[in-house]
Amino acid sequence: MQMEQMTHEEVKAYFQAGNDMVILPCGSTEQHGKHLPLGTDLLIASHLAHAVGEKGGILVAPSLAYGYAEYHKEGFTGTISFDQDLLYAVYYRIAEQLAEMGTKHIVFLNGHGGNTHVLSRVSMNLRIQHQVLGLIVDWWKTAGQLQPQWAEKGHAGKAETSVMMHLYPDLVHQSQICFEPFFTLADGVETKGSASFSYQGVTYQLWMNTCDVVSTESGSYGEDPHLSSAEEGRQSMEAVVDHLTDFLLHGFQKMHPAGGFR
Ligand SMILES: [Zn+2]
Repeated sequence: MQMEQMTHEEVKAYFQAGNDMVILPCGSTEQHGKHLPLGTDLLIASHLAHAVGEKGGILVAPSLAYGYAEYHKEGFTGTISFDQDLLYAVYYRIAEQLAEMGTKHIVFLNGHGGNTHVLSRVSMNLRIQHQVLGLIVDWWKTAGQLQPQWAEKGHAGKAETSVMMHLYPDLVHQSQICFEPFFTLADGVETKGSASFSYQGVTYQLWMNTCDVVSTESGSYGEDPHLSSAEEGRQSMEAVVDHLTDFLLHGFQKMHPAGGFR
C-alpha cells in the first residue's frame, strides 16, 4: 500500500475503513564507504516499510531521501544533508498533514542513526501537540535484538553490507570493500565510532566527523564488511519484517495516544 501509487480516493477509503496507522520511511543520502551506494539507508528503510506495509495492510507514505548527515560530508563527495532544525520541520510538517488525514499512529521506519535524535523530538511533540503516537524504528537496533550478529555496529559495516548484498546485489561493489582500523585520537583513549570513545573500559559520547576517526579511503567502520553474506542479510530482513509487523498490528495499534487500553 504505497501512497505514491494510490489515488486520493483510495487513501480516503483507507482512513474511512477505520485504519489510523501510516509508515514513513526515513532515509539519508550519504557516503557508505567505497562499496555501498549513497542511498543505502534510504533503500533499506524503504524496503522494510514496503514489506511491512504489504504484510500488515498498512499505508506507506513516500520515503524521505534526506536526513541529518553533516558528519559524513567532510572528505566525501555525494553526501546531501539537512541540518537538524530543517529536518525536524520537514518531518513535523509531514506528520501534521498525515494527522489531518486521520493518522493516529505514525511509524518512522528509520535507516540512519543521524536521524534518531530529530525523530525523538518529532515523536514527543506529536504526542503533546496532536495526540498522535510517533514510533521510531531504527531497523539495525531491532535486528540486533533479534540476533546480536545482525546489529550494524558502525557504518557500512558487516550487517548493513549483508542486507545490501541480499536486497541489491548489483549495487554492492565487493572488490572495493576497504576496511581500516580507527585512528587513535589520544593515548589511552580507544575510538569506538564517530561518536563513541572508551577510556579504561568506560565509554563516552562525543560527536566527531567520520573523517576524524577513519580514513576517507574507507569511510566504513564497525565490523569488517569482508565478513558479510547475502544469506545473513536475508535472514535479518525477514526476521525484522515478521517481528515488526506483528508488533505494529498487535502492540502499537492498541496503544492509545491519550493513554490507557483500547
Ligand atoms: Zn547506513
